[in-house]
Amino acid sequence: MNESKMICECNQIDWSGKDGKYIHIESGEIYDTQKHGALDCQAKVREGTINYGQYFRECKFIPGDPESHFPNAYFKIQKKNVTTNKVEEGIPPIPEKLFK
Ligand SMILES: [Zn+2]
Repeated sequence: MNESKMICECNQIDWSGKDGKYIHIESGEIYDTQKHGALDCQAKVREGTINYGQYFRECKFIPGDPESHFPNAYFKIQKKNVTTNKVEEGIPPIPEKLFK
């Protein structure tokens, strides 16, 4: 396992999840690790290609991560905030300066 060689390839998948399916963009087919290979980082973790440390450091498509490109993550987090009224740690309040 080479820690320095990990590249996130999750951008090869359309994660918008229409009809609950993820699309392999290049072929336009439903993404299938059996068919297209383990392209997404979660599949790589499952297969032992990378470890969780690399996944959280390098993956740009982590569901639930506010900085992730994973399309559903943003909406899930918003919904969670509305129902629980819980302030997410690590997100600073918007400075009032911006409004002046
Ligand atoms: Zn990734």
